[in-house]
Amino acid sequence: MAANSVFRHSYWDAVNVAVIPGQAVFFVLLARAYGALPTTTLLALLPVLYALALQNSGANHNHHHTPFFRSRRLNALTRMGFSLQGEPKTPHNIYHGHHHSTNRSWDHDSYLRIVGLRAPIRRQLSRFGLSFVEALGLRYFVLLVLLKRWPLERVAALASPADPELGRHVLGRVAQPAALRAATFDLGAWLGFRLLLCAIDWRFFFLYYVPANYLITSLRMGEDFMHHWGAADAFDVRRNAVSCYGKLYNWLTFNLGYHQEHHLRPTAHWLSLPSMTEGLPRDRRIVPFSHYVNVPLFYPRLAAEIARRAASQVGAAEAAASGSASTEVGSGAPGAAAAGHGE
Ligand SMILES: [Zn+2]
Ligand SMILES: [Zn+2]
Repeated sequence: MAANSVFRHSYWDAVNVAVIPGQAVFFVLLARAYGALPTTTLLALLPVLYALALQNSGANHNHHHTPFFRSRRLNALTRMGFSLQGEPKTPHNIYHGHHHSTNRSWDHDSYLRIVGLRAPIRRQLSRFGLSFVEALGLRYFVLLVLLKRWPLERVAALASPADPELGRHVLGRVAQPAALRAATFDLGAWLGFRLLLCAIDWRFFFLYYVPANYLITSLRMGEDFMHHWGAADAFDVRRNAVSCYGKLYNWLTFNLGYHQEHHLRPTAHWLSLPSMTEGLPRDRRIVPFSHYVNVPLFYPRLAAEIARRAASQVGAAEAAASGSASTEVGSGAPGAAAAGHGE
């Protein structure tokens, strides 16, 4: 790696930064061409939009862990640039910091539940409808205002009813003055770009961009699950994640596939991650092509094995509760493991 007076780690970080103008130009051109494009082309472009979202996410992730520039102002501008697509990045990055600071098993969660497909159809439809109301940031603005006026507990209960503790943690960090300022600037960049697209062609924005983003964002909500489901040991920092060495996937996302390497040392630069693979244990989980294959649908035998282990642990726990369990029981149960490694 070669740093210089502008780039803190490597001038190769410029390829991550290039994602910002590259994608901005792409979406502006798409908005301008929208009226002349047939529906089949617009549908065929959805996987491309998905790939661009992954690329934006990979580049922002690298910048979050190892800020590219020596100048704080350039780093702030870059974060705002990544906020043009997807979501304003400061709250997202704070949530990601929480992901790194907590150990948990994802084996007993459900991808379908996480992306919202287990919810009643009526709730799914209302979520989709709300995405149009929120297309210009209503939710973010309400949250920013409430963070200044309401007690944190009350905002967390409203924003994250399923996990108020997580909401308290993330929103508590967002409410810090420096983070709140950064989040406001991110929101400004995010909204400004959306207003630009809307001004170019409001039909493109509301009939294509917003629904496409809704679809992409919903499916991407399951990424943490896919990065960790089936990991060899959820509480061993050398085996608690799933790596994927697919060349195209890592080229597109700037090495997002090296997830075990990344969890072992989150501050390692993205170009250093491949050199860490050799030192990792062989009995960890690796998947081909992309993390997106790491779902129970493609690994029914592993899913069945995980279900069998969970059932036997529940059986053992019930036996222990009734007083007839052996002393071997608790050590393998998820709750016991979590307690043991959480300290
Ligand atoms: Zn992870
Ligand atoms: Zn990370």
